[in-house]
Amino acid sequence: MYDLSGRSVLITGASRGIGRALAQALAEEGANTALLARSGDEVHALALNLKKKFGVDAIGRACDVTDAGRVAAMIDETASRFGGLDLVICNAGILGAKTTLAEYDPQAWAHAMDVNVNGCFYPAHFAMKRMKIRGKGGRILFVSSSVGRNVRAGWGAYSISKYAVEGLSQLLAEEGPLLGITSFCVNPGGTATAMRAAAFPQEDPATLPTPDSIAGAFLRILRKNDKELNGQTFDAADYL
Ligand code: NDP
Repeated sequence: MYDLSGRSVLITGASRGIGRALAQALAEEGANTALLARSGDEVHALALNLKKKFGVDAIGRACDVTDAGRVAAMIDETASRFGGLDLVICNAGILGAKTTLAEYDPQAWAHAMDVNVNGCFYPAHFAMKRMKIRGKGGRILFVSSSVGRNVRAGWGAYSISKYAVEGLSQLLAEEGPLLGITSFCVNPGGTATAMRAAAFPQEDPATLPTPDSIAGAFLRILRKNDKELNGQTFDAADYL
C-alpha cells in the first residue's frame, strides 16, 4: 500500500471545491502540500491552516496554470522546499460555455482548452523533469470527467478538453515508467462544488457527494500501488 505520509504533493486548483478538499485530506494523512490557484490569498490561508492543524509543511501560491513559467517556478519551489516531488494533482479546471459547437465562441473555446489541457500539460511536464533528475519516480494524477470518455451535446470545450486530459494521462503512462513515473486519471463524478452548480443550476447540491467525501475516495485510489494505477482511469464513485 502506498503511504502518503511525508510525501511532497502539488495540487492545482486548491482554492475551493475538490482541490481544496484534497489538500485537507492529504495534509491529514501527513503529506506536505503546495497549493496553487489564481486566488493566492485563499490558498495561502489554507496552507497556514493545514500547517497549524496537521503539523505538516504547506505553501499556498497564486498561480495561473496557463502560465508555463509560473508553473515551472512552482514545481521548483515545491521540490526545493519539501526535498523532492512525489505527487502532482492536475485538478484546476473551468467549465467554459455550455453551448453547441455551432454557437461556441472561438476565443472562449481557446481559453477553456488552455486552462484545462495546457494547465495539465505544464505541471506534468515540469514535474517529469524534476522527478527524472531526482531519480525516485513519482505520480501524476489527472482529474478528468465522464464527458472526457463519452461526449454529451452542449458540453463543448469542457468535454473535448477532458478527452485530451485522458489522452495526456495515457501518453504519460507509456513514457513515464522508464523514469519510474506513474500516470492515471480520476473522474470525481457529480460533486457539490461551484462548478457543478454552474453546470446544473436547478440541481439540489444536498443530493450530491461533498468534496470531502470525494477526496476520501481519491485517497483510497491513491493508496493503490503504481502497477495498479499506471494508465488507468478511475471513477471516484466506485471508492466512496
Ligand atoms: P471549482 O470551480 O469548485 O474549482 C476549480 C478550481 O480550479 C478552483 O480552485 C480555481 O481556483 C481553480 N482554477 C480555475 N482556473 C484556474 C487557472 N487558470 N489557474 C489556476 N487555477 C485555476 O471546480 P471543482 O472543484 O468542481 O472541479 C475540480 C476538478 O474536478 C475540475 O478539473 C473539474 O473539471 C473536475 N470535475 C468536477 C466535477 C464536479 O461535479 N464538481 C465532475 C467531474 C469533474 P481560482 O479560481 O482561485 O483560480
